[in-house]
Amino acid sequence: MYINLKEVTQKAKELNYTVGAFNTHNLEMLPEMIRAAKEKGAPIIIQTSVSTAKYIGYKVLVEVCKLLAETELVDVTLHLDHAKNFDDIKEAIDNGYSSVMFDGSSLPFKENIMKTATVVEYAHARGVSVEGELGIIGGTEDGHSIDSEKYMYTKPEDAVEFIKQTGVDALAVAIGTNHGQYKSKTNVRLDLLKEINNVVDVPLVIHGGTGVKEEDIPELINNGIRKFNVGTELLVGWTKTAKEKFGETALDNSLRNNIMPCNETVKNIVKHKIEIFMNKNQPIRI
Ligand SMILES: [Zn+2]
Repeated sequence: MYINLKEVTQKAKELNYTVGAFNTHNLEMLPEMIRAAKEKGAPIIIQTSVSTAKYIGYKVLVEVCKLLAETELVDVTLHLDHAKNFDDIKEAIDNGYSSVMFDGSSLPFKENIMKTATVVEYAHARGVSVEGELGIIGGTEDGHSIDSEKYMYTKPEDAVEFIKQTGVDALAVAIGTNHGQYKSKTNVRLDLLKEINNVVDVPLVIHGGTGVKEEDIPELINNGIRKFNVGTELLVGWTKTAKEKFGETALDNSLRNNIMPCNETVKNIVKHKIEIFMNKNQPIRI
């Protein structure tokens, strides 16, 4: 089924797992991502940046996700990642995205609350979920670097106030992860996540998931992470395979022969991540 973020994370909370939110960068890799979820019997969140949505087309993405959710019998949520202005969010919602993120993390606290609340009002009236962000997560977003000195951890007391005032369905937390990190791994502040999770009751979201050590993932799930973003690993995997394949084949070779292995690389990464995200060796905590 094609469902929103609130619905998909609710099931994850009940059974204590996290839902992989994978960034697609083109239309080619998208069906294999959803088929990977199908093979693992898991739901999936497909997310796009505003730039990717404009490149492929909001409506095209919505229709492809709806169709594959229906034909492959997978729960699919289509989410707009890191939108910073209302017009982009409105375009996504009006075209049928089932979830959006308003990223007001670089705004002053009160302005972030005010603008996020406006997005929530528009989205909820249309059955669409909203993710907000508090604190500043370092690294790069959609190819633009963010000054790592500006990194700001999420404060638990701010999270309580933010959720109360905005009514968001999920909250992205800054607990040490960085966007775009794939050459090294980060030290996640599990202590801070526990503090936040003790005082809020909305699903929490990890950004920059590629840089998280896989052995840390079960404890993140046990402490309220219900949406786990993975983007860079897919991008790097697809590009690496593309370089190898295109580099070694004749110019008139069918594109399909080069692109199918790239999609297969992405599919394998998604399957591997989902296996960890389903948290099968951990007890269910309600
Ligand atoms: Zn992010």
